Amino acid sequence: MEPIILKRADHNVSRQNMTSAAVKVLYRLKDEGYTAYVAGGGVRDLLLNRNPKDFDVATNATPEQIRKMFRNCRLVGRRFRLAHILFRGEVIETATFRAPVPDDGDETVHCENTLRVGESGMVMRDNIFGTPEEDAMRRDFTINALFYNIADFSIIDYAGGLKDLDDKIIRVIGEPDKRFAEDPVRMIRAARFAGTLGFEIEQEAYESICRNKDLLASAAPSRMYEEVQKLFFCGHAKEVFQWLEKTGLLHPMFHDFSHWIDEDKARHDWVIQTLEQMDRWRQAGLRVHPALLFSLIFGEYHEFLIKQLEEGGQTPHDASRNAIQNHLRPMCDNVRVPKQVIYQVCDIMTNQRRFERTQGRRPQRFIQTRGFLDAFLFFKFSSKAHNRNQELLEFWTEQRKSNPPKQTQRKKKRGPNNTNPDGEMPIE
Ligand code: ATP
Ligand code: MG
Repeated sequence: MEPIILKRADHNVSRQNMTSAAVKVLYRLKDEGYTAYVAGGGVRDLLLNRNPKDFDVATNATPEQIRKMFRNCRLVGRRFRLAHILFRGEVIETATFRAPVPDDGDETVHCENTLRVGESGMVMRDNIFGTPEEDAMRRDFTINALFYNIADFSIIDYAGGLKDLDDKIIRVIGEPDKRFAEDPVRMIRAARFAGTLGFEIEQEAYESICRNKDLLASAAPSRMYEEVQKLFFCGHAKEVFQWLEKTGLLHPMFHDFSHWIDEDKARHDWVIQTLEQMDRWRQAGLRVHPALLFSLIFGEYHEFLIKQLEEGGQTPHDASRNAIQNHLRPMCDNVRVPKQVIYQVCDIMTNQRRFERTQGRRPQRFIQTRGFLDAFLFFKFSSKAHNRNQELLEFWTEQRKSNPPKQTQRKKKRGPNNTNPDGEMPIE
């Protein structure tokens, strides 16, 4: 099929809005005689005048050829080798145009990096590379299948993505039922793009998600964890969450929790408030780490579970640990939340009781612990959300000012993208 080609004069995508690393990779490939395109989210976001998270490059050079061209290059993945070209603070993922995956039903297209072993035990590497058109058509949504060609600065559209960008539509490439069955994670990606970009999910795809949502149970847990983080850290977590609810995807993702929310509007309001807060932090450039994210989103639910266990006779400490672990552990079966994150969530919640203890040297000791900052952010957020603990909140805010934490080592480790080390994350 002939693609639609938009000449430089007819679009707004400029090299000036790309990182110098991306432009270097494109030109090097081009100068060596290869085709080199920016592909995927980078083109989509530039066309929408948004800031792309990263730039992925697609080319007809093979991974080996790419490796020889760049000293700062690592090949990753097994079945489908990708080149990671490393620059200071940036990785340009460079992939050879890919052919469609054979219709054998046992493989998800984007679950690359899995070895496919034939009957003879040989790794099958045939038919992996493809044409630009094939590469475009195996992507998930039309708006994610656009290319920017460094050779003439044009935009190449094989799948109808330009029109869908104009119409603000998330449209699956190919048959939605088939594409979601190949890789169920695409369903939550649809919700993420719809929420982040303020687009509608095209009707057929929408109905397909509603029908196929339970397939999420068969998605690879580690990929689910990655995507779940993207859902809530994208800066539009509230809108994304509303799409997850509307499509019913929330249920297979977090079953008990989603039932619990459905029972009471106040519970739902807590979650929405949390997500709004998350979005304000994100839009201010602050990064909330996963344990704080899960503590906040599930905070009210965890408090509910803890109370139940306490009423059943458990000590407050045991009740906190058991409630949180009982909830998060099974969640690991379909969203692989790392153990470390679960422990941190437990700490944040068990530490909440320490805010009631204001006597003697306890406050100073608490402030100096590693877990104080996250616990305090949770405490501050939940106090404001429920309009409670005003006096305690003032007490601890004062204490923090007069006893700044001596956590120099920890400060050094934290990069600019992490939680603000001063804990002065504004809570509204
Ligand atoms: P983001 O802004 O989150 O980075 P993105 O569109 O760049 O959005 P990535 O996860 O970085 O998303 O993937 C890059 C590109 O790879 C996508 O734009 C899409 O073309 C393709 N892609 C990613 N995941 C899938 C998938 N599950 N199925 C098919 N294509 C995919
Ligand atoms: Mg991307």
